[in-house]
Amino acid sequence: MTAATEPTAAPAYDVVIVGSGISGAMMAKQLGEAGKKVLILEAGAPLPVNIDGYLHTFFQSPAKVPESPYIPNLFSDAATFTLANPTLLNAPRPTVLTLSADSWQNQSQSYLDQQGPTAFASTYERTNAGTARHWLGTTLRHVPHDFAMRSTYGVEIDWPLTYADLEDWYGQAEAEIGVSANVADQAYLGITFPAGYEYPMPALPNTLVDQYVAAAVDGKQLDGATLTVTTTPAGRNSRPYQNRRACGGNTNCIPICPIQAKYDPSVTLNAALQTGNVTIQYQTVAVSVDLAGDDTNIGGISWVQYDGPDGGVVGRGTATGTIYVLAAHAIETPKLLLMSTNGGKTPNGIANSSDQVGRNLMDHPLYLAWGLASKQVFPYRGPLSTSGIESLRDGAFREDRAAFRIEIGNEGWNFPGGDPYTSLLAEVLGDDESQIGTAGAALVATLNGRYTRQFRMAFLVEQTPDPENRVTLSPTWKDKLGLPRPQIHYQLSDYTKAGFAAARQTADQLFAWMGAEQVTDKNPAAGPTTFSYEGQDYIYYGAGHVVGTCRMGGDAATSVVDANLRTWDHPNLYILGSSVFPTIATANPTLTIAALALRAAATVLTQLG
Ligand SMILES: Cc1cc2nc3c(=O)[nH]c(=O)nc-3n(C[C@H](O)[C@H](O)[C@H](O)COP(=O)(O)OP(=O)(O)OC[C@H]3O[C@@H](n4cnc5c(N)ncnc54)[C@H](O)[C@@H]3O)c2cc1C
Ligand code: SF4
Repeated sequence: MTAATEPTAAPAYDVVIVGSGISGAMMAKQLGEAGKKVLILEAGAPLPVNIDGYLHTFFQSPAKVPESPYIPNLFSDAATFTLANPTLLNAPRPTVLTLSADSWQNQSQSYLDQQGPTAFASTYERTNAGTARHWLGTTLRHVPHDFAMRSTYGVEIDWPLTYADLEDWYGQAEAEIGVSANVADQAYLGITFPAGYEYPMPALPNTLVDQYVAAAVDGKQLDGATLTVTTTPAGRNSRPYQNRRACGGNTNCIPICPIQAKYDPSVTLNAALQTGNVTIQYQTVAVSVDLAGDDTNIGGISWVQYDGPDGGVVGRGTATGTIYVLAAHAIETPKLLLMSTNGGKTPNGIANSSDQVGRNLMDHPLYLAWGLASKQVFPYRGPLSTSGIESLRDGAFREDRAAFRIEIGNEGWNFPGGDPYTSLLAEVLGDDESQIGTAGAALVATLNGRYTRQFRMAFLVEQTPDPENRVTLSPTWKDKLGLPRPQIHYQLSDYTKAGFAAARQTADQLFAWMGAEQVTDKNPAAGPTTFSYEGQDYIYYGAGHVVGTCRMGGDAATSVVDANLRTWDHPNLYILGSSVFPTIATANPTLTIAALALRAAATVLTQLG
């Protein structure tokens, strides 16, 4: 445990980083390898010696949700399904278990102070190595038009950089993560690669579900596109890579890969620590970003250290560096900036002269479609997803409605229906759970007939940036440290809803081509994540893609950071992560987060000289 320090004239570190997720860890590793002295302040628990503890917690958990293996424990009493109260935790985080009508606005259940009109449905971790502890591992590149939505389609906003600016950094990020994919599959919709480029590992094999969908869909025309089922680039080893094993097909990528064939940021974090130049302070919550004496640069980051998830405070201090990097993800980073009022010198928070901090919160609202294949496709073997339909990620239709990518799921009805558990219970207990239903050989035959044909598709719909979708500080909801919890305002625009409606039409068409029986819930009961559009009712799910809130731009008046992720207001303050994305596009965000972090690390090294 590092002792509390007082700010001094000479900064103690070259760089102070808040957060040890993939973006913070990538920055730390680059700087550490270059011989720079780095301190990471990490709100969450320490890195474990191995993941056995997480696996044990996961096995014991009555709900196998993404957060279930990690610290703090989801339940204060798992036997009675009692969720831990965020008011009593030092570093709480949201969970998908608090998205129901009776919990999403309940202060003792939901960490987020959700003001609606609808619920923000995605979650994140506050533990060592961050949210990609429980990610799936999908590592898609953006397509070139994603960076130029305003100039191409007259909607949304352009990024201050292009695909060409990121191309090499994508390659470096793919090497660090260890991505399995084939260049020939990924060169679509304008995505290019340097001559001779190869991914670190070949693509993982397609599942039988993928092959079933491809047989019915490949070559079909829709919305001006020729549809193709494409293997999905993945941060999962298709062969041994960097001392980690090849994927064994356990279908448990979310929330935890039991053999660590899936990359998680502890890989990069450990490598950063092994440079000998990187120090990390766990259970240490950054509480304010403090101005230097010139009132322009940053002079320190104040922190509070605690003892265990619900323990007491054991230290306070201020970390000093030449440069500061915030990598606390797209809800905690703006929260920290807004909390940093510097005794009234920055009443609207740090880096917020544009009033853009906290605004434009986005996600990929997911349209889920699921059903039974017309033949056995044997899901629940292999990764959760190995392929998707990427053909509709871009096209002229983006002038009028949101685009989407389609993820083909290989975990049966686990996501929409909680299987394989739910069907089993329903069969054994009967519909009203009070009688003995099917048993013996009949039960096995029934379940085999169902489980072997189950599949689902997830449509990741791009969401428009909306300044009123925002993170602010809750005036009344606090955590155990007395810090304000994030208050969230969130809704979907008509452009996004039109994309959602198109996703349903596309799903119906795909199921018809496959001859599959669709059981998608098309008449959801009204709830925190439902909406009506043109006479139809819809329910959306969170994708875990928390984006926006500290947008990057070419103009200090309308954005928080420049193209190098340096804040316009403070020359020695950088922001990493998807909070800087001006738009969300359709790709899962983390490869682009990693590429931007590596690019920013080069800028920081240049600035440090
Ligand atoms: C279920 C799920 C599946 C996903 N699957 C994919 C996928 O397949 N592909 C993909 O591209 N993306 C995926 N994502 C998204 C991905 O996990 C995130 O984009 C990524 O982890 C963000 O990295 P980050 O470094 O920006 O933030 P994080 O990983 O969230 O790291 C932030 C760190 O900051 C720390 N922190 C927070 N507040 C403070 C504070 N005040 N002081 C000190 N430290 C603090 C946290 O403890 C954490 O360690 C998924 C997300 C979820 C929820
Ligand atoms: S399928 Fe299994 S072994 Fe492969 S990455 Fe997922 S959890 Fe790990």
